[in-house]
Amino acid sequence: MPKKRILSGMRPTGKLHIGHYVGALENWVKLQDEFENFHLIADYHVLTTDLNTDNVYQNSIEMLIDWLASGLDPVKSPMFRQSQIKEHTELALIFGMLITVNRLERNPTLKDMIRDLKIDNVIYGHLGYPVLQTADILLYKGNYVPVGEDQVPHIEISREIARRFNNQYRITFPEPEPLLTKFARLRGLDGNAKMSKSLNNTILLSDEPETVKVKMKKAVTDPNKQKKGDPGNPDICLVFSFHKKFNTGEVPEIENGCRSGELGCFDCKMKCAAKISNFLAPIIEKRKYYEKNLDEVRDILFDGETRGRKVAVQTISEVRENMKIG
Ligand code: SF4
Repeated sequence: MPKKRILSGMRPTGKLHIGHYVGALENWVKLQDEFENFHLIADYHVLTTDLNTDNVYQNSIEMLIDWLASGLDPVKSPMFRQSQIKEHTELALIFGMLITVNRLERNPTLKDMIRDLKIDNVIYGHLGYPVLQTADILLYKGNYVPVGEDQVPHIEISREIARRFNNQYRITFPEPEPLLTKFARLRGLDGNAKMSKSLNNTILLSDEPETVKVKMKKAVTDPNKQKKGDPGNPDICLVFSFHKKFNTGEVPEIENGCRSGELGCFDCKMKCAAKISNFLAPIIEKRKYYEKNLDEVRDILFDGETRGRKVAVQTISEVRENMKIG
């Protein structure tokens, strides 16, 4: 029986951080044997937040290097840019006829995006974001999409569009389902619910140990624990949440030390920084290899785009045939 397909993607905004790893990449790496995966560099989606395209190519390469360094295997899964496979835009145009403006305006993710990014003027691209995303998924007949809870409403729109197309023409597409990422999203070093480069609260996958230490010094903790000796509450401490992810073996000891006051925040942060750097070491080593071998990275992209395009062209031919416009 053929493997079920997964479409996963990210917008290329530059080097990735540990939040990307925990929230997505770790899961993608685990899924690459069980499923047939397609990994999308969603470079057209970048236009919804920034019309300046000067850095899009370089950011795409940086992101691809982070994917490879994190363990994604380009032989198992093609990795490609959305802009290089024109069938994405063709399918998005067709799908745009199958959903009402009313439905798109009711999308709660759109409201969150407008609030989080402080968008004053909503453009058609914001409203149509889930339509293009649906084209991204269904062009490869994705059965599953690994997402966080916040993206589930988008997948529901994709299911509605797939159903509408199948009912109107002929059964062509699966109704994709969300594959929820289990570990909660990492908060930013400043305590913000989101780790994000634009908020300057990240630890990058490429950060060397000294940089990790400097960044960790600024991480927020329990505000009531002012000095070593004061009892703290790890349940409300960001650093403790990082220990739970990157230093699982020492969690009980850290919790006891924090609550009793014996462990000071500085020492606790440096322990955490060391563990994060241990975790990052093999990623940084692989990253350096790819940085030195950029031709290999470009070849991987070329190969991914060739393989992705082949599937995309087949799907569009089938769509045109089923719509009798072929
Ligand atoms: S000792 Fe560690 S867990 Fe406790 S408040 Fe300080 S940084 Fe957080």
